[in-house]
Amino acid sequence: MPTITLDGIVKNYGGDQNAVEHLDLTIDDGDFMCLLGPSGCGKTTTVRMIAGLENITDGSITIGDTVVDEPRANRFVPPEKRDIGLVFQSYALWPHLTVADNVDYGLKLRKMPKAERAERVSQMTQKLGIAPYVDRYPAQLSGGQQQRVALARMLAVNPKLMLLDEPLSNLDSRLRLEMRAELKRIHDEFKATVVFVTHDQWEAMTLATRVAVMNQGVLQQVGSPMDIYDRPRNRFVANFLGVPPMNFIEMGEETPQRVYAARFLEAHGVPASAAGSVGVRPEALTVAQPDPSRPSGDLVLPGRIESVMPTGGSWTVEAAVGGQRVYATTLQRGSLQPGDEVELVAPAAQAHVFDTDDERVEV
Ligand code: ATP
Repeated sequence: MPTITLDGIVKNYGGDQNAVEHLDLTIDDGDFMCLLGPSGCGKTTTVRMIAGLENITDGSITIGDTVVDEPRANRFVPPEKRDIGLVFQSYALWPHLTVADNVDYGLKLRKMPKAERAERVSQMTQKLGIAPYVDRYPAQLSGGQQQRVALARMLAVNPKLMLLDEPLSNLDSRLRLEMRAELKRIHDEFKATVVFVTHDQWEAMTLATRVAVMNQGVLQQVGSPMDIYDRPRNRFVANFLGVPPMNFIEMGEETPQRVYAARFLEAHGVPASAAGSVGVRPEALTVAQPDPSRPSGDLVLPGRIESVMPTGGSWTVEAAVGGQRVYATTLQRGSLQPGDEVELVAPAAQAHVFDTDDERVEV
Protein backbone atom coordinates (compact mmCIF):
# COMPACT_ATOMS: atom_id res chain seq x y z
CA MET A 1 0.00 0.00 0.00
CA PRO A 2 1.32 3.43 -0.85
CA THR A 3 2.63 6.04 1.54
CA ILE A 4 2.13 9.62 0.37
CA THR A 5 4.86 12.11 1.11
CA LEU A 6 4.30 15.81 0.62
CA ASP A 7 7.67 17.51 0.86
CA GLY A 8 7.61 21.29 1.14
CA ILE A 9 4.77 21.65 -1.33
CA VAL A 10 3.70 25.12 -2.36
CA LYS A 11 0.74 26.14 -4.51
CA ASN A 12 0.44 29.54 -6.02
CA TYR A 13 -2.48 30.26 -8.35
CA GLY A 14 -0.90 33.51 -9.50
CA GLY A 15 -1.86 35.86 -6.64
CA ASP A 16 0.24 37.41 -3.88
CA GLN A 17 -0.62 34.75 -1.36
CA ASN A 18 0.12 31.06 -1.72
CA ALA A 19 -2.95 28.81 -1.45
CA VAL A 20 -0.69 26.19 0.18
CA GLU A 21 2.45 27.25 2.01
CA HIS A 22 5.42 24.88 2.31
CA LEU A 23 3.43 21.85 3.45
CA ASP A 24 5.28 18.83 4.85
CA LEU A 25 3.00 15.88 5.52
CA THR A 26 3.42 12.11 5.44
CA ILE A 27 0.33 9.95 5.04
CA ASP A 28 1.23 6.42 6.08
CA ASP A 29 -0.08 3.09 4.80
CA GLY A 30 -3.55 2.52 6.14
CA ASP A 31 -3.95 6.03 7.52
CA PHE A 32 -7.36 7.67 7.42
CA MET A 33 -6.06 11.22 7.21
CA CYS A 34 -8.58 14.04 7.48
CA LEU A 35 -7.60 17.47 6.21
CA LEU A 36 -9.57 19.86 8.38
CA GLY A 37 -9.82 23.63 8.39
CA PRO A 38 -12.00 26.63 7.63
CA SER A 39 -13.17 27.52 4.14
CA GLY A 40 -10.32 28.60 1.87
CA CYS A 41 -7.50 27.11 4.00
CA GLY A 42 -6.19 24.98 1.12
CA LYS A 43 -7.70 21.53 1.80
CA THR A 44 -9.17 21.00 -1.65
CA THR A 45 -6.06 22.36 -3.34
CA THR A 46 -3.92 19.87 -1.37
CA VAL A 47 -5.99 16.85 -2.25
CA ARG A 48 -6.24 17.93 -5.91
CA MET A 49 -2.46 18.16 -6.04
CA ILE A 50 -2.13 14.62 -4.64
CA ALA A 51 -4.59 13.46 -7.32
CA GLY A 52 -2.67 15.27 -10.05
CA LEU A 53 -5.65 17.46 -10.96
CA GLU A 54 -3.54 20.45 -10.02
CA ASN A 55 0.23 20.73 -10.34
CA ILE A 56 2.40 22.00 -7.52
CA THR A 57 4.39 25.22 -7.69
CA ASP A 58 7.31 23.92 -5.64
CA GLY A 59 8.35 20.93 -3.53
CA SER A 60 7.59 17.31 -4.35
CA ILE A 61 4.89 14.66 -3.98
CA THR A 62 5.81 10.99 -3.72
CA ILE A 63 3.29 8.15 -3.81
CA GLY A 64 4.81 4.80 -2.84
CA ASP A 65 8.22 4.76 -4.53
CA THR A 66 7.27 7.14 -7.31
CA VAL A 67 7.83 10.88 -7.38
CA VAL A 68 4.60 11.99 -9.06
CA ASP A 69 5.17 15.74 -9.04
CA GLU A 70 8.40 17.68 -8.71
CA PRO A 71 8.56 20.88 -10.76
CA ARG A 72 12.30 21.40 -10.22
CA ALA A 73 12.99 18.00 -11.78
CA ASN A 74 10.35 18.54 -14.45
CA ARG A 75 8.43 15.50 -13.31
CA PHE A 76 4.66 15.17 -13.47
CA VAL A 77 2.71 11.91 -13.53
CA PRO A 78 -0.83 12.50 -14.86
CA PRO A 79 -3.83 11.61 -12.66
CA GLU A 80 -4.84 8.49 -14.56
CA LYS A 81 -1.39 6.97 -13.97
CA ARG A 82 -1.50 7.55 -10.20
CA ASP A 83 -3.95 4.69 -9.53
CA ILE A 84 -6.10 6.57 -7.07
CA GLY A 85 -9.81 6.32 -6.27
CA LEU A 86 -11.41 9.76 -6.29
CA VAL A 87 -14.65 11.24 -5.07
CA PHE A 88 -14.72 15.00 -5.38
CA GLN A 89 -17.60 17.37 -4.92
CA SER A 90 -16.99 18.56 -8.44
CA TYR A 91 -15.98 15.20 -9.88
CA ALA A 92 -19.08 14.51 -11.89
CA LEU A 93 -20.65 11.23 -12.88
CA TRP A 94 -20.87 10.36 -16.57
CA PRO A 95 -24.18 11.98 -17.54
CA HIS A 96 -24.80 9.68 -20.51
CA LEU A 97 -24.35 6.47 -18.48
CA THR A 98 -26.90 4.89 -16.14
CA VAL A 99 -26.12 4.42 -12.46
CA ALA A 100 -25.17 0.79 -13.10
CA ASP A 101 -22.88 1.74 -15.99
CA ASN A 102 -21.27 4.50 -13.93
CA VAL A 103 -20.46 2.02 -11.16
CA ASP A 104 -19.30 -0.50 -13.77
CA TYR A 105 -17.06 2.03 -15.51
CA GLY A 106 -13.82 1.40 -13.60
CA LEU A 107 -14.33 -2.36 -13.60
CA LYS A 108 -14.68 -2.36 -17.38
CA LEU A 109 -11.49 -0.30 -17.73
CA ARG A 110 -9.73 -2.92 -15.61
CA LYS A 111 -11.06 -5.61 -17.95
CA MET A 112 -12.79 -7.60 -15.24
CA PRO A 113 -14.90 -10.51 -16.65
CA LYS A 114 -18.52 -9.54 -17.31
CA ALA A 115 -20.23 -11.86 -14.79
CA GLU A 116 -17.90 -10.77 -12.02
CA ARG A 117 -18.56 -7.13 -12.93
CA ALA A 118 -22.32 -7.56 -12.73
CA GLU A 119 -21.95 -9.20 -9.33
CA ARG A 120 -19.75 -6.39 -8.05
CA VAL A 121 -22.08 -3.65 -9.36
CA SER A 122 -25.02 -5.31 -7.67
CA GLN A 123 -23.05 -5.65 -4.42
CA MET A 124 -21.93 -2.03 -4.36
CA THR A 125 -25.26 -0.51 -5.36
CA GLN A 126 -26.96 -2.50 -2.62
CA LYS A 127 -24.38 -1.56 -0.04
CA LEU A 128 -24.82 2.12 -0.81
CA GLY A 129 -28.59 1.97 -1.03
CA ILE A 130 -28.84 2.94 -4.69
CA ALA A 131 -30.01 -0.42 -6.08
CA PRO A 132 -33.50 0.96 -6.88
CA TYR A 133 -31.98 3.55 -9.22
CA VAL A 134 -29.55 1.47 -11.26
CA ASP A 135 -31.34 2.21 -14.54
CA ARG A 136 -31.60 5.95 -14.00
CA TYR A 137 -29.27 8.61 -15.36
CA PRO A 138 -27.44 11.00 -12.99
CA ALA A 139 -29.72 13.93 -13.94
CA GLN A 140 -32.65 11.91 -12.56
CA LEU A 141 -31.09 11.60 -9.09
CA SER A 142 -30.92 13.87 -6.04
CA GLY A 143 -27.57 15.32 -4.97
CA GLY A 144 -27.26 12.77 -2.15
CA GLN A 145 -28.06 9.87 -4.49
CA GLN A 146 -25.43 11.14 -6.96
CA GLN A 147 -22.87 11.25 -4.16
CA ARG A 148 -23.63 7.67 -3.26
CA VAL A 149 -23.22 6.62 -6.91
CA ALA A 150 -19.84 8.38 -6.96
CA LEU A 151 -18.80 6.52 -3.81
CA ALA A 152 -20.01 3.20 -5.23
CA ARG A 153 -18.09 3.85 -8.46
CA MET A 154 -14.91 4.47 -6.49
CA LEU A 155 -15.30 1.63 -3.99
CA ALA A 156 -16.17 -0.90 -6.74
CA VAL A 157 -12.57 -1.02 -7.92
CA ASN A 158 -11.24 -1.49 -4.41
CA PRO A 159 -8.69 1.27 -4.59
CA LYS A 160 -5.69 1.11 -2.27
CA LEU A 161 -5.60 4.88 -2.10
CA MET A 162 -8.73 7.01 -1.88
CA LEU A 163 -9.00 10.77 -2.05
CA LEU A 164 -12.33 12.13 -0.89
CA ASP A 165 -13.29 15.79 -0.93
CA GLU A 166 -16.39 16.40 1.20
CA PRO A 167 -17.97 13.22 -0.23
CA LEU A 168 -20.88 13.29 2.22
CA SER A 169 -21.74 16.98 1.95
CA ASN A 170 -25.05 16.48 0.12
CA LEU A 171 -26.42 13.80 2.41
CA ASP A 172 -28.95 14.40 5.16
CA SER A 173 -27.67 13.89 8.69
CA ARG A 174 -28.94 10.35 9.13
CA LEU A 175 -27.54 9.12 5.83
CA ARG A 176 -24.34 10.96 6.58
CA LEU A 177 -23.94 9.01 9.81
CA GLU A 178 -24.61 5.74 8.00
CA MET A 179 -22.14 6.56 5.24
CA ARG A 180 -19.49 7.56 7.76
CA ALA A 181 -19.86 4.20 9.45
CA GLU A 182 -19.68 2.51 6.05
CA LEU A 183 -16.52 4.39 5.08
CA LYS A 184 -14.91 3.53 8.39
CA ARG A 185 -15.80 -0.12 7.95
CA ILE A 186 -14.44 -0.16 4.39
CA HIS A 187 -11.25 1.47 5.56
CA ASP A 188 -10.82 -1.10 8.35
CA GLU A 189 -11.68 -4.01 6.11
CA PHE A 190 -9.57 -3.10 3.08
CA LYS A 191 -6.84 -1.28 4.98
CA ALA A 192 -6.90 1.37 2.30
CA THR A 193 -5.08 4.66 2.68
CA VAL A 194 -7.60 7.50 2.75
CA VAL A 195 -7.21 11.25 2.48
CA PHE A 196 -10.49 12.90 3.38
CA VAL A 197 -11.26 16.61 3.16
CA THR A 198 -13.84 18.07 5.50
CA HIS A 199 -14.63 21.29 7.29
CA ASP A 200 -16.79 19.32 9.74
CA GLN A 201 -14.83 18.68 12.91
CA TRP A 202 -17.10 15.87 14.13
CA GLU A 203 -16.69 14.09 10.85
CA ALA A 204 -12.92 14.37 11.18
CA MET A 205 -12.93 13.30 14.83
CA THR A 206 -15.07 10.23 14.22
CA LEU A 207 -13.39 9.00 11.03
CA ALA A 208 -9.73 9.90 11.16
CA THR A 209 -6.79 7.96 12.45
CA ARG A 210 -4.93 11.25 12.06
CA VAL A 211 -6.10 14.79 11.47
CA ALA A 212 -4.15 17.59 9.77
CA VAL A 213 -5.50 21.02 10.72
CA MET A 214 -4.79 23.80 8.21
CA ASN A 215 -5.27 27.54 8.28
CA GLN A 216 -4.57 29.98 5.44
CA GLY A 217 -2.52 27.43 3.55
CA VAL A 218 -0.35 26.60 6.56
CA LEU A 219 -0.39 23.28 8.40
CA GLN A 220 -1.12 23.94 12.08
CA GLN A 221 -0.97 20.49 13.65
CA VAL A 222 -1.06 16.79 12.75
CA GLY A 223 -2.08 14.14 15.25
CA SER A 224 -4.70 11.68 16.38
CA PRO A 225 -8.14 13.21 16.94
CA MET A 226 -7.74 13.06 20.72
CA ASP A 227 -4.24 14.48 20.52
CA ILE A 228 -5.28 17.62 18.68
CA TYR A 229 -8.35 18.03 20.87
CA ASP A 230 -6.59 17.47 24.19
CA ARG A 231 -3.24 19.04 23.36
CA PRO A 232 -3.77 21.72 20.71
CA ARG A 233 -0.42 23.09 19.63
CA ASN A 234 -1.61 26.64 19.28
CA ARG A 235 -4.59 28.84 19.89
CA PHE A 236 -5.97 28.48 16.37
CA VAL A 237 -6.31 24.69 16.73
CA ALA A 238 -7.68 25.05 20.27
CA ASN A 239 -10.31 27.50 19.08
CA PHE A 240 -11.21 25.68 15.86
CA LEU A 241 -12.10 22.41 17.61
CA GLY A 242 -14.98 22.12 20.04
CA VAL A 243 -18.59 23.33 20.30
CA PRO A 244 -19.23 25.53 22.20
CA PRO A 245 -15.67 26.74 21.62
CA MET A 246 -12.94 26.93 24.23
CA ASN A 247 -13.13 29.84 26.71
CA PHE A 248 -10.04 32.07 26.64
CA ILE A 249 -8.92 34.45 29.35
CA GLU A 250 -6.66 37.13 27.95
CA MET A 251 -3.57 37.74 30.06
CA GLY A 252 -2.69 41.03 28.39
CA GLU A 253 -5.67 42.85 29.92
CA GLU A 254 -6.06 44.03 33.53
CA THR A 255 -9.34 42.32 34.37
CA PRO A 256 -10.68 40.36 37.37
CA GLN A 257 -10.66 37.17 35.30
CA ARG A 258 -6.97 37.72 34.55
CA VAL A 259 -6.32 37.69 38.31
CA TYR A 260 -7.99 34.25 38.60
CA ALA A 261 -5.97 32.87 35.71
CA ALA A 262 -2.75 34.41 37.08
CA ARG A 263 -3.38 32.68 40.43
CA PHE A 264 -3.58 29.36 38.57
CA LEU A 265 -0.42 30.05 36.59
CA GLU A 266 1.53 31.05 39.67
CA ALA A 267 0.50 27.84 41.43
CA HIS A 268 2.24 26.06 38.56
CA GLY A 269 5.33 28.23 38.50
CA VAL A 270 4.45 30.04 35.25
CA PRO A 271 4.91 33.82 35.39
CA ALA A 272 1.65 35.44 34.31
CA SER A 273 3.61 37.87 32.13
CA ALA A 274 4.84 34.95 29.98
CA ALA A 275 1.30 33.88 29.09
CA GLY A 276 -0.88 35.37 26.36
CA SER A 277 -4.02 33.49 27.30
CA VAL A 278 -5.42 30.62 29.34
CA GLY A 279 -8.03 28.43 27.68
CA VAL A 280 -10.48 25.91 29.07
CA ARG A 281 -13.11 23.88 27.25
CA PRO A 282 -16.73 24.21 28.42
CA GLU A 283 -16.98 20.49 29.14
CA ALA A 284 -13.85 20.62 31.31
CA LEU A 285 -15.49 23.07 33.72
CA THR A 286 -17.48 21.87 36.69
CA VAL A 287 -20.02 24.30 38.13
CA ALA A 288 -19.52 24.17 41.91
CA GLN A 289 -20.50 26.00 45.07
CA PRO A 290 -17.88 28.59 46.17
CA ASP A 291 -15.35 26.85 48.41
CA PRO A 292 -12.51 28.87 49.96
CA SER A 293 -10.71 25.68 50.95
CA ARG A 294 -10.44 24.42 47.38
CA PRO A 295 -6.92 23.07 46.75
CA SER A 296 -4.71 25.41 44.79
CA GLY A 297 -3.61 23.99 41.46
CA ASP A 298 -7.07 23.84 39.90
CA LEU A 299 -8.21 26.63 37.62
CA VAL A 300 -10.95 28.35 39.64
CA LEU A 301 -13.14 31.02 38.04
CA PRO A 302 -15.63 32.65 40.41
CA GLY A 303 -18.70 33.90 38.60
CA ARG A 304 -22.45 34.42 38.49
CA ILE A 305 -24.78 32.29 36.40
CA GLU A 306 -26.46 34.33 33.67
CA SER A 307 -28.41 31.58 31.99
CA VAL A 308 -28.81 27.81 31.80
CA MET A 309 -29.63 26.66 28.28
CA PRO A 310 -30.86 23.18 27.37
CA THR A 311 -28.92 21.74 24.45
CA GLY A 312 -30.68 18.39 24.13
CA GLY A 313 -29.40 15.91 26.70
CA SER A 314 -27.01 18.42 28.24
CA TRP A 315 -26.99 22.00 29.53
CA THR A 316 -24.88 24.98 28.66
CA VAL A 317 -24.30 27.27 31.62
CA GLU A 318 -23.40 30.84 30.77
CA ALA A 319 -21.64 32.65 33.60
CA ALA A 320 -20.25 36.16 34.06
CA VAL A 321 -16.64 35.81 35.22
CA GLY A 322 -15.23 39.28 35.80
CA GLY A 323 -16.23 41.11 32.65
CA GLN A 324 -16.39 38.04 30.50
CA ARG A 325 -18.90 35.36 29.49
CA VAL A 326 -17.63 31.86 30.27
CA TYR A 327 -19.47 28.75 29.10
CA ALA A 328 -19.63 25.40 30.87
CA THR A 329 -21.49 22.32 29.68
CA THR A 330 -22.93 19.83 32.09
CA LEU A 331 -25.07 16.69 31.86
CA GLN A 332 -26.93 17.47 35.10
CA ARG A 333 -28.65 20.77 35.56
CA GLY A 334 -29.21 20.11 39.26
CA SER A 335 -30.54 23.21 40.99
CA LEU A 336 -28.45 25.71 38.98
CA GLN A 337 -30.34 28.99 38.51
CA PRO A 338 -29.54 32.35 36.93
CA GLY A 339 -28.16 34.65 39.64
CA ASP A 340 -26.34 31.87 41.55
CA GLU A 341 -22.83 32.73 42.66
CA VAL A 342 -20.66 29.75 41.68
CA GLU A 343 -17.12 28.64 40.92
CA LEU A 344 -16.24 27.17 37.55
CA VAL A 345 -13.46 24.70 38.22
CA ALA A 346 -11.15 22.73 35.95
CA PRO A 347 -8.26 20.45 36.89
CA ALA A 348 -4.82 21.66 35.77
CA ALA A 349 -4.61 19.00 33.05
CA GLN A 350 -7.65 20.57 31.38
CA ALA A 351 -6.33 24.13 31.36
CA HIS A 352 -4.47 25.19 28.21
CA VAL A 353 -1.85 27.90 28.43
CA PHE A 354 -0.71 29.81 25.35
CA ASP A 355 2.20 32.24 25.13
CA THR A 356 2.04 35.73 23.67
CA ASP A 357 2.58 34.19 20.20
CA ASP A 358 -0.41 31.88 20.78
CA GLU A 359 1.80 28.77 21.00
CA ARG A 360 1.08 26.11 23.59
CA VAL A 361 3.00 26.21 26.89
CA GLU A 362 3.15 23.02 28.96
CA VAL A 363 2.23 23.48 32.63
P1 ATP B 1 -13.44 25.09 1.01
O1 ATP B 1 -13.66 24.36 2.32
O2 ATP B 1 -14.21 26.38 0.96
O3 ATP B 1 -13.62 24.22 -0.19
P2 ATP B 1 -10.55 24.80 0.92
O4 ATP B 1 -9.90 24.74 2.25
O5 ATP B 1 -10.76 23.52 0.22
O6 ATP B 1 -11.90 25.60 1.03
P3 ATP B 1 -9.15 25.67 -1.44
O7 ATP B 1 -10.31 25.43 -2.34
O8 ATP B 1 -8.03 24.75 -1.52
O9 ATP B 1 -9.64 25.78 0.07
O10 ATP B 1 -8.64 27.17 -1.69
C1 ATP B 1 -7.46 27.68 -1.09
C2 ATP B 1 -7.22 29.09 -1.61
O11 ATP B 1 -6.89 29.04 -2.99
C3 ATP B 1 -8.43 30.00 -1.50
O12 ATP B 1 -7.98 31.27 -1.14
C4 ATP B 1 -9.01 29.99 -2.91
O13 ATP B 1 -9.66 31.20 -3.17
C5 ATP B 1 -7.79 29.81 -3.78
N1 ATP B 1 -8.08 29.05 -5.00
C6 ATP B 1 -8.59 27.81 -5.08
N2 ATP B 1 -8.70 27.40 -6.36
C7 ATP B 1 -8.25 28.42 -7.13
C8 ATP B 1 -8.10 28.62 -8.53
N3 ATP B 1 -8.41 27.67 -9.42
N4 ATP B 1 -7.59 29.82 -8.95
C9 ATP B 1 -7.25 30.76 -8.06
N5 ATP B 1 -7.37 30.65 -6.73
C10 ATP B 1 -7.85 29.48 -6.25
